[in-house]
Amino acid sequence: MSFRPTGHCQSTNATKYKYFEFAMRLNISSKVKSTVMWIKRQGIMRWVLLAVLIFIGVRSTSQIFYVNMGTSKSIGPVHKGKIQNAYLLPYSGDNYKYFSPFSYYILGRAYVHSTIHTTVLDGYKICESTCDGISFRVMECSNKKGGSMFPHRTHQNGTSLDFMTPLMKKGKQHKFFDRIGIFRYALNFDKDGVLKLNKKVSIDYENMARHILAMEEAARKNGMYIKKVIFKINLKDNLFDTESGKRLQSSGIYFAQSLPKSIDNLHDDHYHVDFGFL
Ligand SMILES: [Zn+2]
Repeated sequence: MSFRPTGHCQSTNATKYKYFEFAMRLNISSKVKSTVMWIKRQGIMRWVLLAVLIFIGVRSTSQIFYVNMGTSKSIGPVHKGKIQNAYLLPYSGDNYKYFSPFSYYILGRAYVHSTIHTTVLDGYKICESTCDGISFRVMECSNKKGGSMFPHRTHQNGTSLDFMTPLMKKGKQHKFFDRIGIFRYALNFDKDGVLKLNKKVSIDYENMARHILAMEEAARKNGMYIKKVIFKINLKDNLFDTESGKRLQSSGIYFAQSLPKSIDNLHDDHYHVDFGFL
């Protein structure tokens, strides 16, 4: 179809042609523009992706190539302290694993005092025979140099660790909710330790008690002790009701007796442990 101006309607056709040409140019230029924008967006996305990968690589390198050596020194209290020459816990072992690659590699939050490093691993060794077939998860510990670590109020001098409450379903260990990384901190349980998201899943108090007893045994052998356990106040009775819970209750290990509601509510999906030096 041609709009070239001919005959007596020359001026009208010329106008039409100009409009058509203008419209075509507009159409082409908007297509070109959107194509250029798309290419630019792709380019920006590529750069963003590259920047993210470099960031992950640089942050992870610090943990991947970290070498534990010498002795650590914890300075100051758990809520206002730091640590020198911290040890990095292994990401996983035969019956334990750190809970989040993001927290471990990117945030670098699996550092502890050297003696606690030994104690935690010795504790898991004991659990290999006392908690048959149970796989445990370590949650956040301290930064490489300690100091404040949002949102934790403590965890500053390498002597505080969080441990995931083991879960069970129909009497067997249930691991699905162990694999949700940092979202694990957001789980909620009812007054008996039944998971609100799935009523068939509940806290395995027996193996939790066995793990704490194993850590205390290991700590004593290494010149340390469990100074304090923080676990949701109204769940302690369920814990102490189990066979190993009774031994735990009479062991003298100190459990927090009362907590502000906001802190109390956070300590059902994990139990917090502070170690002390003998
Ligand atoms: Zn904690």
